[in-house]
Amino acid sequence: MPIVVGMDGYSMAGAPGLAPCWLCQKDVSGRALFCSHCGSLQAPRDLDHFMRLGLDRKVDLDLGDLEKQYQGFLRILAPERFILKGLGERTHAEQQMEAIQLAYTTLRDPVKRGRYWLELNEQQNPCPCDADSVLHTLEADLAAAPDAPALDQVARQVGQAMEQGILRLLACLRAGNWVTANQILTEIDGLEALLEKTRGKRNTLTKEGAR
Ligand SMILES: [Zn+2]
Repeated sequence: MPIVVGMDGYSMAGAPGLAPCWLCQKDVSGRALFCSHCGSLQAPRDLDHFMRLGLDRKVDLDLGDLEKQYQGFLRILAPERFILKGLGERTHAEQQMEAIQLAYTTLRDPVKRGRYWLELNEQQNPCPCDADSVLHTLEADLAAAPDAPALDQVARQVGQAMEQGILRLLACLRAGNWVTANQILTEIDGLEALLEKTRGKRNTLTKEGAR
């Protein structure tokens, strides 16, 4: 039976300490959603995305665990459960849900998670991607692509390069290779923009062909 962690007040390294409940003023654990004294829903505390979702802080996140935790919080914070509550708890339910959504969308996407990981480690330092990056080759390929099949081929290659970039990014983050991780993030951004450009060119071509 899956158990959603994060609702009760067990302590975790880096978790904020006790804070008074907004309603009864008694101390509540930093990670608790509900006050253990009066049962009221608390406002979101200053937690990192992993802690908020009750997950171990690691860059190689188990997406199954992430999904399980997220679904658990969705059930607990479902608006219908707070319809009969006062404004305070209804507001907290909305705020908690927003914080959970942000944590979930950030951690689910490997690129966003990678960027967030750099932020958590205070290693965010945008720098240009490697001079011999595949990005430059593919930019040249796009410029030279004469027709739709060639553009499709470029789009496929960009997609593959992005997948490989994500794997390399995660490996660098695991190893604490911050400089290369920052370079790869720039490269992935460039590849994303290139994919957009390729699709745009492909659409223009299709429209022209239809005339
Ligand atoms: Zn209370």
